[in-house]
Amino acid sequence: MRMIELILAPLTWLMADALVFFCMVLEKIPFRRSPTGYDNPRVRRMVGGIGYWAHTFRLTLPNIRKWLKTRGELFPLVLQVQTINRCNGACSFCPYPYTVHLQEKRTMDDALYSKIVDECVAEPDLHDFVPMSKNEPLLDVKMEARVAEFKRKAQPHQLVELVTNGAALTPTRMKRLIAAGLDLLTVSVNASNETTYNQVMVKLSWKQVMNNLEALSKENLSMTNVYLRFVSEQDNRKDLQIFRRRWQGFNLFSFTVNNRAGTVKDFETRIIHYSDFIQRLKRMAGSHIYPVCPYIFGMMHILENGDVPMCSNDWANREILGNVRAQSIREIYNSPRMNQIRALMAQGGFEEIDACRECSFYHEFMKPLTAKENVQVAEPMIG
Ligand code: SF4
Repeated sequence: MRMIELILAPLTWLMADALVFFCMVLEKIPFRRSPTGYDNPRVRRMVGGIGYWAHTFRLTLPNIRKWLKTRGELFPLVLQVQTINRCNGACSFCPYPYTVHLQEKRTMDDALYSKIVDECVAEPDLHDFVPMSKNEPLLDVKMEARVAEFKRKAQPHQLVELVTNGAALTPTRMKRLIAAGLDLLTVSVNASNETTYNQVMVKLSWKQVMNNLEALSKENLSMTNVYLRFVSEQDNRKDLQIFRRRWQGFNLFSFTVNNRAGTVKDFETRIIHYSDFIQRLKRMAGSHIYPVCPYIFGMMHILENGDVPMCSNDWANREILGNVRAQSIREIYNSPRMNQIRALMAQGGFEEIDACRECSFYHEFMKPLTAKENVQVAEPMIG
């Protein structure tokens, strides 16, 4: 670490703690009213970017703290389930177009889905159930029924969330999803005009998505909190402010593109570069908040065949930790290998884990300044 960083470190850590505290407190203040989902106790405190961050911290930090203190058993706070392994887009920041060939097209069978739901609703630690992972969830024609099944069985604090590109979010489907009890909906838009949209959201129709959003803004959204998402990269970075002004009737959330554990092609041409000083400050604060990665301490995702890859960010599925057809979620989440990976992270051994070694989320946010600088973020290995 450089001298200036040694001086700045305590202040940075204090500010990082203050940020987490500020987000959590602000989320509890009753006068902040969400434009959507305001009558739903599970999501009504989620207002804007701060609400999303607070929600994220609330869902990621408790398991990390518990495990680092006790090495005790964990259950995912957020569970993503891939009910269909296909998407209708080919977005520029997503590895889908060159990983889709790794699996034939399949949909999760009902018995497996129900087994997952039944275990989740019996676990009070499970908070967010997301029947979507590395796909476009609305391509699954049973999605409304799947949302309804979870909601029928869920504990009062457990919410169901979907993330969609919005192309198939017709007024009819939105009405059905609301009726099914969808608590939280994120629409990934990532542009404020058709030209940028066509560059970033390849194969999708700007007009179709805009029509769907217009119709969505006229729905009764008192029980469904809607976030529009903006993943910032080189092609769309100038659109962000216009995007914010255009869609004030929804909650908005933006973050910068990541390389999905090294599987996004041409990632170096997409990232927004900050100065070395800012990058190092981000790492100083990030590794303080997250000394280990939240993806394997609070989250889990299940593929349509029941396989559980180590991390949802790794589109190459380099390591499969188990299969929920034969094992329980709890068993896989507390398996010897899972705990071995957690222990490696706790000792600073991220780069001994194949996916993490190439992950920009680690290199940008969690890599301590004291870590060796011997590994570059690599180009993807997928052809
Ligand atoms: S650091 Fe590892 S566990 Fe965390 S997001 Fe990256 S690949 Fe996944």
